[in-house]
Amino acid sequence: MNTPHPDSLAARSSRSVWHPCTQMRRHESLPPIAVERGHGPWLYDTDDRRYLDAISSWWVNLFGHTNARINRALTDQLGRLEHAMLAGFTHEPVVALSEKLAALTGHALGRCFYASDGASAVEIALKMSVHAWRNIGHSDKTEFICIAGGYHGETLGALGVTDTALFRAPYEAMLRPAHIAASPDARLALPGERASDVATRALADVERLLQERHGRIAAVIVEPLVQCANGMAMHDPAYVAGLRKLCDAYGAHLIADEIAVGCGRSGSFFACEQAGVWPDLLCLSKGISGGYLPLSLVMAREHIYQAFYDDDVRRGFLHSHSYTGNALACRAALETLAIFEDDDVLERNRRFAHTMTAALHPLAQDARIAHFRRTGMIWACDVRLDHARASDFARRFAQEAARREVLMRPIGNTLYLMPPYILDDAHAAWLGRRVYEAFEAAMGMQ
Ligand SMILES: *Cc1c(COP(=O)(O)O)cnc(C)c1O
Repeated sequence: MNTPHPDSLAARSSRSVWHPCTQMRRHESLPPIAVERGHGPWLYDTDDRRYLDAISSWWVNLFGHTNARINRALTDQLGRLEHAMLAGFTHEPVVALSEKLAALTGHALGRCFYASDGASAVEIALKMSVHAWRNIGHSDKTEFICIAGGYHGETLGALGVTDTALFRAPYEAMLRPAHIAASPDARLALPGERASDVATRALADVERLLQERHGRIAAVIVEPLVQCANGMAMHDPAYVAGLRKLCDAYGAHLIADEIAVGCGRSGSFFACEQAGVWPDLLCLSKGISGGYLPLSLVMAREHIYQAFYDDDVRRGFLHSHSYTGNALACRAALETLAIFEDDDVLERNRRFAHTMTAALHPLAQDARIAHFRRTGMIWACDVRLDHARASDFARRFAQEAARREVLMRPIGNTLYLMPPYILDDAHAAWLGRRVYEAFEAAMGMQ
């Protein structure tokens, strides 16, 4: 954490690498952690200090670093095929992955379209929605409803349906505004209200927008159950079920962005399962490749697919990315799904969640903490801070956590854990203690 030697990896990185989501000047006083290797839940830096990756490296790593099974599968795939273009060609990993994912939705979402990162999947879903409407004679349906506080990525289309002022402001003139519906965040419950009451109120706002503009609305886009980037804002599953009903009633597509909450993070494999509904389009990325390789996809229902199915090329979905359906990434994803099956991961996570919650009890009970909450394998709480102390809390906490061998990055005053699915009870107890110590230290530093 001291000023790094000019030849160190951290210093070289600060000179040559423009780091994401970072004010680079801050790296002068707090250099990036130079990771040399990873194993299981641990990352090791160039000084051989270890860090428990409690946020799964930005929510992507499900089964630990250098996972033996995924490594073996990738080594095998490297000897067969690394990549081939997916227009006019196909290969076993992309076919098998599409079949497996479709089966996980009971074939409700049977058509998989591939890209590389989450934002691109969102772009694809938005374009597919508008183009599908156009192909069936509704070319006026080009607008979107998104949810207050929602986050869908940072390319222009995705940013257009993202409600985060910090990310949007410099580019506002380039963005096509979407209609923003009231938040279903359970923290907005008034005294005596439950999460479902907030959901009901938020649904009324979506209905108001649909009543006014349904002739123009192509789709409603939502992060089901948890708006992760928005400080792990959690809502009642009834909200997602309600959106499905409204979309059906007013003729709009429902797009579920499960990039963060998919792949078991919410407790079920898809978050939508807990609402008992399927969207028209579902975006997956992040965990799908086990955190190994960039891979994203959009799963579409048959009626969307059929809107494009024609002799006319122009009615097809003419969208592509160079690495669409990359064979290595798909193979990593296949092995990830195989681990889910073989190790009964969702059930294991359910048991682990009780242990982890118990280990966080001191934090949850602390008077300086509000809204301790959990959905699946996401734990979050808000630190009560006065204005003066709020500005720098996230950075201070991250530093104190790193000193205690824990990798965490609070979002504003929200502390959260999104660990890989491989921690045991001893990890949970250790992590609970270290998080509380880091919290005490960050609070004491005012
Ligand atoms: C991370 C994220 C995205 C964007 O994915 P990238 O791979 O970072 O482009 C979109 N939506 C949600 C909900 C996300 O969490």
